[in-house]
Amino acid sequence: MIAEVIVDVAAYPIDRPFDYAVPTKWERVMEPGVRVKVPFGPRKVAGYVTGLKMESELDASKIKSIVEIIDLEPVLSKELLALSKWMATDTIAYEIDALQVMLPTAMRAKYEKIMRVVSPELLDDSFRTFLGNREQVTLKALQDANLLNEAKDYSEKGIVEIDTAIQQKTKIKKVRMIHIPDIKSLEIAFSKIHPNAKKQAELLRWLMKHPSSSMEASELLNQSDVKANVLKSLVDKQVIEQSYVEVYRELDAPKMRDSGRPEQLTEEQQIALSAIEQSSDLEQQETFLLHGITGSGKTEVYLQAIDHVLKKGKEAIVLVPEISLTPQMTARFKGRFGELVAVLHSGLSSGEKYDEWRRIHRGEVKVAIGARSAVFAPFTNLGLLILDEEHESTYKQEESPRYHARDVAIWRAEYYQCPVILGSATPALESYARATKGVYTLLTLTERAKQQALPSVEVVDMREELKTGNRSMFSVALAEAMRDRLARKEQIVLLLNKRGFSSFVLCRDCGTVVECPNCDISLTYHRSTESLKCHYCGYEQHVPVECPECESEHIRFFGTGTQKAQEELFKLLPEARVIRMDIDTTNTKGAHERLLHDFGEGKADILLGTQMIAKGLDFPRITLVGVLAADTSLHIADFRAAEKTFQLLTQVSGRAGRDQLPGEVVIQTYDPDHYAIELSKTQEYLPFYELEMDRRRQLGYPPYYYVAVVQFSHEDVLKAADYAHKGTSFMAERLSPSSVIIGPTAAAISRLNNRYRYQCLIKYKQEPALIPVLQQLLKHYKTNWVKDGLNLSINREPTAIF
Ligand code: ADP
Ligand code: ZN
Ligand code: ZN
Repeated sequence: MIAEVIVDVAAYPIDRPFDYAVPTKWERVMEPGVRVKVPFGPRKVAGYVTGLKMESELDASKIKSIVEIIDLEPVLSKELLALSKWMATDTIAYEIDALQVMLPTAMRAKYEKIMRVVSPELLDDSFRTFLGNREQVTLKALQDANLLNEAKDYSEKGIVEIDTAIQQKTKIKKVRMIHIPDIKSLEIAFSKIHPNAKKQAELLRWLMKHPSSSMEASELLNQSDVKANVLKSLVDKQVIEQSYVEVYRELDAPKMRDSGRPEQLTEEQQIALSAIEQSSDLEQQETFLLHGITGSGKTEVYLQAIDHVLKKGKEAIVLVPEISLTPQMTARFKGRFGELVAVLHSGLSSGEKYDEWRRIHRGEVKVAIGARSAVFAPFTNLGLLILDEEHESTYKQEESPRYHARDVAIWRAEYYQCPVILGSATPALESYARATKGVYTLLTLTERAKQQALPSVEVVDMREELKTGNRSMFSVALAEAMRDRLARKEQIVLLLNKRGFSSFVLCRDCGTVVECPNCDISLTYHRSTESLKCHYCGYEQHVPVECPECESEHIRFFGTGTQKAQEELFKLLPEARVIRMDIDTTNTKGAHERLLHDFGEGKADILLGTQMIAKGLDFPRITLVGVLAADTSLHIADFRAAEKTFQLLTQVSGRAGRDQLPGEVVIQTYDPDHYAIELSKTQEYLPFYELEMDRRRQLGYPPYYYVAVVQFSHEDVLKAADYAHKGTSFMAERLSPSSVIIGPTAAAISRLNNRYRYQCLIKYKQEPALIPVLQQLLKHYKTNWVKDGLNLSINREPTAIF
């Protein structure tokens, strides 16, 4: 038997499975999806068996044998193996990367070189002393002890062998369980107890209230309030038994409110749910775009749709943009489905992630909720996949394999013939365009679930504030609104928009942002050269000393931090209690949940933060939302800047007035007439969609074109540019004339880690040659260019093009 193995050597120029012989003794246990160890060149490496066959086309003498089996049951199902193949092709990635991304880190075999002793009697004394009674040590330990040369000598003589160790870092956690016998046995034990053993008698009395049960020792000690030695004496007397069992690490479940009861659906919700249920019963793949305004009850629709598929014995995956940012959402799913839910989030340790993965793998849970990579949850009978806030760019992985969770979800749904729900108040333009074409089925929720009005929005022109002498970060209107809420004991959310921080130049008098004369896109500020550049056409100019429009000298980079905002807030409203949420205050485990929890409990009046507070909050007392710098995300040199700004403003506005109290939003901006800001006043998606689509058509951007970016980087700036030109011509010669290649131009961050970066952009409508040509380019790169220190990356549909 021959196994096809993808080896874990990404740097190797050949990206395909290699044939290895399966030793006869292992033929019965060998299956696709198991990990093995194989000889590869001089080393032994780990790999994944992706297929089995009876014969190889290769000469039998050339075929080496598998030396070790790492798993006795496959870690990847046939479905996931097929998915990895498709993903590697579709995203132009290495197959090994596509395989690895599907497993929790703890399952990606970790390598460490070790030295194993073969003939201990031939070692000299000092070396033997160093080893003590160890039969093997890591090379690192040898290196630290300065014994590498000796080890090498021994290795050449065959006295020791050097190997690549594959370690399972993650340990399975065990807890001590106490098993309490029936009441009879307890009574007998009680009658025999020595009269002086008061504590033991006390524990026995407690145990008699819990006969014939098992519980964790720590829990028992806690509840019965006796000391561990008392418990031990009863174990020693064999009154009770103890054992150690494997457990899953307990997650810090965010303790936030959820009734756990399904709501009576509104008419719109019911229509949407019925459509999804019907599709699910037909067992066909169908993708729904659930477009519902903020607070319209999309989550409730998800919950009931999941309930429907669970009743059929199927499973569901729910993706959220960044799980640690949505503890409320998780709480709702746990409230509804309890133990059937596995949560996969980035805040978990790798051990915790591994536990959750195992619970899914073993079929112990039915719903997985998590960020992007949860789309690979190892279910085998999927009935529904959901992407909440489907427009979020975090669904696209920006390192290899550069997949989009939406595409993977739809692929898996095809495999299982089940529905996908893409939900958003502000769908990605691409998604809405597909829905209007009938590729996706559009479902719409136009009203808030509790019939509340959307908050009223006021846009404040910060240029006017400056003219009247207000140099603070807070407009008069916002300051007044905040005082009002403080007096009424209502809550406030303040968003400091940090996207695009400092990357563009703005005139504080007239609001002008310096743009490219050719491209209708703002120029990016390059600190190193004090210049402004266009990353689309290569245009470049010096940073102006005065505004090109009004000649004011108040022209500068735009941006400010949350810490500064907090200080100013303190000066303005010293009595206000403020919770600040940004990268600095949320970098410890559980901090995010704790801060939100405190805010929910009313321990603060104001929640001040960056983008991370824009989504998912559902607190009834929030009645005011203030946006401090709506512009910053508008002038990033990215054709999606307007879309992202509109999405952010709509999202954050949606936090206000979700319960009984009406909401109000104040948006501060230097550019009140920009359509993305103007249109966020009404929070209506369609007018924005139409305007933005028009603009994209005129400029030839997605969704009218597909795009792919090929980036070249090198330590030597001339070589980077040279290869970029070579690569660009390589593609130009092979792609259809209808495809447009722009560049090469320098990348936005033109030097990163001392590597110079150039890139070119391919725009196309229909290009059957795209994947083959990109694959040829990659192969050419790996066989010819990589040796010269070039790095090449290919990114289809990047989330941003700078
Ligand atoms: P979305 O996900 O669209 O922002 P949610 O599902 O979070 O909206 O719903 C907003 C609020 O309305 C939540 O507090 C939710 O519990 C409540 N809700 C949802 N559906 C209903 C319903 N049919 N009846 C009453 N309340 C509802
Ligand atoms: Zn100006
Ligand atoms: Zn330009």
